[in-house]
Amino acid sequence: MCGIVGYVGRKSAKPVLIEGLKRLEYRGYDSAGVAIIRDGQLHLCKSAGRIAGLEDRLDGEPQLATGTVGIAHTRWATHGAPTEDNAHPHTDCTGRIAVVHNGIIENYAALKQVLEEKGHTFRSETDSEVLAHLISEFYRDGDNGSDLPRAVQQALREVAGTYGLAVVCADEPGMIVAARKGSPLIVGVGADEYIVASDASAIVEHTVNVIYLNDNEMVVIDEAGLRTLTIDNVPVSKQVQQIEWSLEQIALGEFEHFMLKEIFEQPEALRNSCRGRLNMREGRIQLGGIEHLSRELVKTRRIILTACGTAWHAGLIGEFLFEDLARIPAEVEYASEFRYRNPIIEDRTVVIAVSQSGETADTLAALREAEHKGAMTLGVVNAVGSTIARETDTGVYLHAGPEIGVASTKAFTAQLTVLTLISLYLGRRRFMSETTLKQYMEELQAIPDKIETVLAQSDAIKQAVEACVDRDNWLFLGRGYNYPVALEGALKLKEISYIHAEGLPAAEMKHGPIALITEGMPVVVVAPRCGTYDKIIGNIEEVRARGGTVIAVATEGDDRIARYAEHVFYIPDCPPALQPLLTVVPLQLLAYHAAVARGCNVDKPRNLAKSVTVE
Ligand code: GLU
Repeated sequence: MCGIVGYVGRKSAKPVLIEGLKRLEYRGYDSAGVAIIRDGQLHLCKSAGRIAGLEDRLDGEPQLATGTVGIAHTRWATHGAPTEDNAHPHTDCTGRIAVVHNGIIENYAALKQVLEEKGHTFRSETDSEVLAHLISEFYRDGDNGSDLPRAVQQALREVAGTYGLAVVCADEPGMIVAARKGSPLIVGVGADEYIVASDASAIVEHTVNVIYLNDNEMVVIDEAGLRTLTIDNVPVSKQVQQIEWSLEQIALGEFEHFMLKEIFEQPEALRNSCRGRLNMREGRIQLGGIEHLSRELVKTRRIILTACGTAWHAGLIGEFLFEDLARIPAEVEYASEFRYRNPIIEDRTVVIAVSQSGETADTLAALREAEHKGAMTLGVVNAVGSTIARETDTGVYLHAGPEIGVASTKAFTAQLTVLTLISLYLGRRRFMSETTLKQYMEELQAIPDKIETVLAQSDAIKQAVEACVDRDNWLFLGRGYNYPVALEGALKLKEISYIHAEGLPAAEMKHGPIALITEGMPVVVVAPRCGTYDKIIGNIEEVRARGGTVIAVATEGDDRIARYAEHVFYIPDCPPALQPLLTVVPLQLLAYHAAVARGCNVDKPRNLAKSVTVE
């Protein structure tokens, strides 16, 4: 998920690696490290925190400057806290093989157990470290010629999950082997030098000539040059292509802003959230983080979800999910209120703290209050090793990758995904049949592809928004599972376009806010197929009778709604419990296009911070 740089050439590897890592900084990371080969020895240098810290340490080892082969990494932790021990590169027991890895090794626990039985000693909590030991297990030194590529291939055949990786070995000091599956990898081809990187921004200052690896392909680079082959050892010939983009364009890819990039990353983010957790074969949800407390969690009498902002909206949907799928009474509290109102925590109450950063001060304070009162606590956070992750009894990470845009998008849908997984996990242990669980698992697995079809409507949403972007007051309406989505849609619009917007359960409109509706006022109605569809059509009629402009989100195949709405955006059909994962996407795009049309700074909205660490 984060950054890889590797260098083979005649120059000193160190500055290329460090500069490359700095180019990747925009992606977000929590620790960094390099491995440089010099005089047949592998030298490691790692640091938790900023690249500047790593650079200072490297400056203290001037002899490393003469090494001409090396690999480097910025880590966004998925398994294990962002500590120096967990930073990459990881080495085998002999310290001669080093690996940097992006992605998630799903079966690392099983592989680790086997390797430990064979005598390997692990030094980190990461999934990635198994790669170093596995390659070492298969590596035959003293062989004629090079054995590293074969050992890497053999290791990768044992691995389930995603990877972009680069490997060096002190016994083959002029070589880098790199491979990809589900995580990007590019090779820059310079004059007598090669740069491997997860992202073109680390390459462009050296060369514009690149080779893009596809999934299941690898590259072997040494003094003799470069060869590309598949993981199964079939040679593939690759074309050298030219990068034509500037550095800034590369950081954002085809997108103008990080927020838009992250909206479009949602299918991938949700695949990562579910990775290794949906065991379709056995019809089981696997949540390693909470497994050891499952017996106690099943006996939960009441769940309190506590959060702020967008995460609070995820919590509202969580309330529906826990009651609907696990039949456990649930409620949601603003973290800032919960803390100060002397909440009642009874026996078998579980408090779930939801926070992208895991550092939100209000949520942390609420969590501490809950702990103080004896609740069992559970964290749903994105940032591994964050304070909330550390201070909760148990938890489930989002694995959504770093979120840079201040307005949360992919973290929100990943929070919904994880809350759904926990609800199903508990539901199945309480009353849900295997058949029902399997149906939900299949539906959840289909969500990322369905999001793609919603994303494809981005241009149409842009056009619709441009027609009413001059209006300063908007309403967002939804019912049931989609009422919190209406709240989230309104918040997104407020945050980045500075348009005043209010989100409501649709039926509440007539108890007051209907007074606001005047000719042309935009009213966004989230109305997918569900038990209250006819009621919401009634609400739409009420809006139209007062001259409001209706923008609807509906289920594909719903021809009726177009008669009532000026604009309709469609989501593919899915069970109501999963609808928010789809219905929120057009609202994110709507807010985004409105902000761009109004000339706002989308990624850094005024007065807002990404991680709110003050009360
Ligand atoms: N899963 C690996 C870890 O937690 C790699 C994370 C990344 O892609 O940076 O160390």
